[in-house]
Amino acid sequence: MKMKLAVKDARCRVIRAPLSSPFRIATGQHDFLENVFLTVELNNGIKGFGEAAVATHITGETIPQTLSNLEDIARAFRGCDVSEPLALLGAMRLKLKGNHAALAAVEMAVLDALARYLRIPFWKLFGPKASVVATDITIVIGTLKEAEAGAKDFYKRGFRSFKIKVGRDIDLDFKRVLAVQRLAPKAAIILDANQSFTADAMLVFLRQLRAKGVATSLIEQPVPKKDIEGLSKVTRLARTLVCADESAGSILDVKKLIRKKAVTAVNIKFMKTGILESMEIASFARQNGLGLMMGAMMESSLAITAAAQFAAGLGCFQFIDLDTTFFIKGKMARSPYLDRRGVFSFSETSGGIGITV
Ligand SMILES: [Mg+2]
Repeated sequence: MKMKLAVKDARCRVIRAPLSSPFRIATGQHDFLENVFLTVELNNGIKGFGEAAVATHITGETIPQTLSNLEDIARAFRGCDVSEPLALLGAMRLKLKGNHAALAAVEMAVLDALARYLRIPFWKLFGPKASVVATDITIVIGTLKEAEAGAKDFYKRGFRSFKIKVGRDIDLDFKRVLAVQRLAPKAAIILDANQSFTADAMLVFLRQLRAKGVATSLIEQPVPKKDIEGLSKVTRLARTLVCADESAGSILDVKKLIRKKAVTAVNIKFMKTGILESMEIASFARQNGLGLMMGAMMESSLAITAAAQFAAGLGCFQFIDLDTTFFIKGKMARSPYLDRRGVFSFSETSGGIGITV
């Protein structure tokens, strides 16, 4: 008889960590990290860790709701068999409808425990070899001086891809983008408008940037998430990859975007769709010729390392946006796999995600 790999205990708690500076985007900001963590302990003593990063100003999810849902799941988990993770996680997914961050934490903790039990690194759940994963760095919404300081500092450290948040003040944004281009001359430039432009305004903005010699490699979510027409228009005329983030909240959304030829890339985040659906989206988007970005909410080293290992294992992401640990202070910021240039390297041997909370 097959031995049951049962959950002995599961617990969750909220952890807060300070940021080095506010993480500001067009629609809101994070002043600190405040996430819910889940620990699952198996009957053989092996533990798995998961993180729910709650971005209320983006998804509408809240900490109290996420904590309460995860407390319910933790109670339901005790005694469950994790040796058939798809069945178990499928049941949990139904209970967590609408709370995607909590779903991500559950899937992360169970898959982490399972990988530790199998003594394989987390990335090996997704592919036979780990490809190189190097993250971009975000220039958050702020003053021209802040953009210049960020570009200078991170370029010197070795970052060669800059994601500039735009959308609060177009004139200032224009100056900020030119400054990053000037101070990081060999870097790729990505813009993320977080839904704050109209299609026409974005096309004008891009044309003006091109006139100054700025070629963007990708623009993310130029228009409101429901404005599929606007997305399609930008995609047709922008002469750069156009990536859905807020518009891509599920595999169904992604299928619709593809059907309507609305975008040429998609940003996948565990906190939007959990891990298993993220895998489905990656595979479906790739089959349909979309570019892929692996992204994150305000996540600590645990979820960021899990996402980087996922991208390394699948090996199909052209864009990596897993830089939030560079904005966090303290212990939650440190991933032993991530160097100060933003390059992750994963070993063959360590089990699971490799981060203990
Ligand atoms: Mg985005």
